[in-house]
Amino acid sequence: MVEPGRRSDQATREPPPKDAVFRQANERIEAWALGARYRGDLLPFLCECPVLSCTRPIRISRADYARIRSNPRWFITAPGHEGGVCGGIRIVERGAGYVVAEKLGPPDGA
Ligand SMILES: [Zn+2]
Repeated sequence: MVEPGRRSDQATREPPPKDAVFRQANERIEAWALGARYRGDLLPFLCECPVLSCTRPIRISRADYARIRSNPRWFITAPGHEGGVCGGIRIVERGAGYVVAEKLGPPDGA
């Protein structure tokens, strides 16, 4: 459950980390695919590594993306980019053209 009104508490001077921003972008890609009834097997998501200049596309199925997104600590990155996720990580899964990394340490926004 998302608590309404909690978002405004997070208005700080610090910009959100790139991985969080790209995660939101990926959520929009997923929403777009749903709305557009996209028929492809693979969707073009974005690498969620923290490197600002990285916009590497990652093509995975929506089912895989939904499964990964179901865990708030899991991030999807291009192979080799997982090491940049800050705060320490553990590799959860290596797939075809993507890596799922679990962020260790305190959860974001908690
Ligand atoms: Zn990357």
